[in-house]
Amino acid sequence: MTDKYFTLILVVLVLAIVILIALVGLMIFFFFKFQKQQSLTNNVQTNVTPIAKKSLPETRMCSVHPDLAAATSCAVCDEYFCSNCLRQHENLYFCSPHLHLFLEGQWKEYDSIQTSASDPENGVRYYELKRKLWRDQNIPMVILTHYKIDVDTDTINTFLKVLVRENDMKYVKKESAHEGRIH
Ligand SMILES: [Zn+2]
Ligand SMILES: [Zn+2]
Repeated sequence: MTDKYFTLILVVLVLAIVILIALVGLMIFFFFKFQKQQSLTNNVQTNVTPIAKKSLPETRMCSVHPDLAAATSCAVCDEYFCSNCLRQHENLYFCSPHLHLFLEGQWKEYDSIQTSASDPENGVRYYELKRKLWRDQNIPMVILTHYKIDVDTDTINTFLKVLVRENDMKYVKKESAHEGRIH
């Protein structure tokens, strides 16, 4: 009789322990699941904010009128100007003093290249040279671009025509040779 009683108590005890372990296990499981979800929502929130900030377009302002949005940049100095400040000549836009500089100069074609999406480097080098020449030597360079759609290959080809003033030609050649990247 007592043996049976003890066995019953033992079985109940073991059952109680098993249930307790299962309960604790479940609690731990849900605790970690909840934490993981929270860290996920945290991640989403921290990821979303910078994207939302980035998607706001950064409006360039006119360098003469700080309260007016810029339309585009000058083909000579690359500064941004509003439509009041820009002068159009052919397909190019200039700030007023640089339109005069362009019209008064004897411009010659320095180079004519084609860039493709797979090899944009060549074009980038000219934009870098242009920036450098203007910044360091006040030598203007004008880069004309036009695009042609190749129907056969369904690609857009970019053509760059680089113009420099006749008097600057020698210097620009020397400078780009010095750069060791173009020609
Ligand atoms: Zn300008
Ligand atoms: Zn302006």
